[in-house]
Amino acid sequence: MLVARTTPPADGPVVERLRGRASAIAPGVDVRRLLPLRGRRQIGPWTFLDHMGPMRVGDGLFDVAAHPHCGLSTVTWLVSGELLHRDSLGTEQRIVPGQLNWMTAGRGIAHSEEVPYGSPEVLEGIQLWVALPDAHRNDPPSFQHVAELPVVQREGVAITVLAGSLLGQTSAAKTHSPLVAAELAGEGTASFPVDPSFEHGLVAISGTIEVAGEAATPGELLYLGRGRDSLSVTLGPDARAMLVGGEPLNSAPLLWWNFVVRDEDEVRAARAAWEAGDERFGAVPGYEGGRTPAPPLP
Ligand code: MN
Repeated sequence: MLVARTTPPADGPVVERLRGRASAIAPGVDVRRLLPLRGRRQIGPWTFLDHMGPMRVGDGLFDVAAHPHCGLSTVTWLVSGELLHRDSLGTEQRIVPGQLNWMTAGRGIAHSEEVPYGSPEVLEGIQLWVALPDAHRNDPPSFQHVAELPVVQREGVAITVLAGSLLGQTSAAKTHSPLVAAELAGEGTASFPVDPSFEHGLVAISGTIEVAGEAATPGELLYLGRGRDSLSVTLGPDARAMLVGGEPLNSAPLLWWNFVVRDEDEVRAARAAWEAGDERFGAVPGYEGGRTPAPPLP
């Protein structure tokens, strides 16, 4: 029996350090998984966060074969390297550091991700999922590539606004619920206002980051609770971090494989559609690496 599991947001501001776990998203593609964790299943609508790399990727060695999604948006952000995204809408999009890929699955999409030939040797990045609210989870699929994002300098820290608004800057990425995502890079202490209705969390990508005396290094997440009107983050030498926040979801999501749904019946329907090659998910034109079979139901 598959049931939706959730962790309620903390009532007020907290700083809890949580350790991620090792996982693999494809053969040879190891990641640090920072969401969901046993102690914290989501932060606002952010239900999944993987930190991949830094890893050496020879030509063609990184290849995540065609697989389906529904009920979520996937968000891809690179620190180094290059990826080629293809999806069943016919999108073919390269992404490099500083850019954002925001793929909204809605009722269903399929995509593949590869390191294209001739790209840099080291790949590092973050991939996140945002659970869609009930009003949008069956929308038609869509894809956004945002090539330029606002960057604000604050006390030696470069703050790039990936989604939502921060420090008066707003990302061009269209979202389906109130949320924020930003990268912090540099060395110094950046203090800035945040939305008190949001639940927030901060992931260390490199170096050491610190909030209210609690430090984190790569593989760790600082859960910050909600009810904050400002945040002060200290970055050590060459540090980099990802801030995520948003309004908590009003219904608990059920994550199974690549699907974010509401109950087991929806898992069975989505799985059956993928296994049947149904047009709900479609095929990925131009991708020659086959398709990833769904795991068996428990
Ligand atoms: Mn995917």
